[in-house]
Amino acid sequence: MTATTIDPLTVEPRDGSESSEKRVLLLKPRGFCAGVVRAIDIVKIALETFGAPIYVRKEIVHNRFVVNELAEKGAIFVDEIDQVPEGMRVIYSAHGVSPAVRQHSKDLNLKVIDATCPLVTKVHVEAVKFAKQGYSLVLVGHRDHDEIEGTFGEAPDVTQIVSSAKEVENLKVPDPNRVAYLTQTTLSLDEARDIIHALKEKFPNIIGPHSQDICYATENRQTAVKNVAHNADLVLVVGSNNSSNSNRLVEVSRNLGTNGYLIDNSEAIDPAWLETVSTVAITAGASAPEILVEDVVNYLRQKGFGSVEEVEVMPENVRFGLPPEIVQAIASAPVSAPASV
Ligand code: SF4
Repeated sequence: MTATTIDPLTVEPRDGSESSEKRVLLLKPRGFCAGVVRAIDIVKIALETFGAPIYVRKEIVHNRFVVNELAEKGAIFVDEIDQVPEGMRVIYSAHGVSPAVRQHSKDLNLKVIDATCPLVTKVHVEAVKFAKQGYSLVLVGHRDHDEIEGTFGEAPDVTQIVSSAKEVENLKVPDPNRVAYLTQTTLSLDEARDIIHALKEKFPNIIGPHSQDICYATENRQTAVKNVAHNADLVLVVGSNNSSNSNRLVEVSRNLGTNGYLIDNSEAIDPAWLETVSTVAITAGASAPEILVEDVVNYLRQKGFGSVEEVEVMPENVRFGLPPEIVQAIASAPVSAPASV
């Protein structure tokens, strides 16, 4: 791979005739975000510190490879809290949980470790605040997503979910002057903007969060695709089917007129996609590990894509601290004896 990071503006356009070499543009930032790194670290540290089994409610992050790897180390993934035996240790996934799930864990006397991403927690706090202030809440997001289930659960009596600008038309609230909106963290920026615009048309006095709920990682990965898609014939997004932010990256590319596919790994690539293609851009959703990106790059090399250039659209250096349960566990773990020399 080309070692230097290059400016997206210097990438040769796809209709340029200076080079006939098939090439890969590797977008940056891509892959793991700070919330995913933190969630995976929490499961690994919990397994090392407390030993297996450790229960995890739902997929810790939406990636099959990651989940399988942690399951091999002793994590037991369950869909619901009542599948965890009483008194055992359970980790909540990065997507967060509703208060009902927290209460259920208490009832079962479970030892809880919370791996909810701090940026999802921010949205929960906003939901509670708006509900307490007497607002009707419109939650913009995908109904079947774990994150929306958790956020909705903070104030179910006053919250309605909308997934499209069309659905805004049907909203009914007790007082159109006391309406607030929040969004899922992993939406398409463009789609969210359209839905929020529709909400503002319908409820001119609607209020929203102080800063947008769509997280930095979602925004940065979409911006990278927007900057580079026009220079590629095909965009491959490494990520699992149930990963919201990964699906949005495919949509962003297709909306710009560049064909895009979501792939779990190189085995999902249909060789026919590459037939008339000379430049492939690769990115990865926030829950997709770099090892799967490398697998895709290696596959493309074998298919004759000899040049691999990394295109850094913006720097990204976000890190989140570990939750107190894990910090305490590390602090009280026995210090291992120094290795003899
Ligand atoms: S995608 Fe955003 S909200 Fe989700 S875990 Fe990553 S940083 Fe947190």
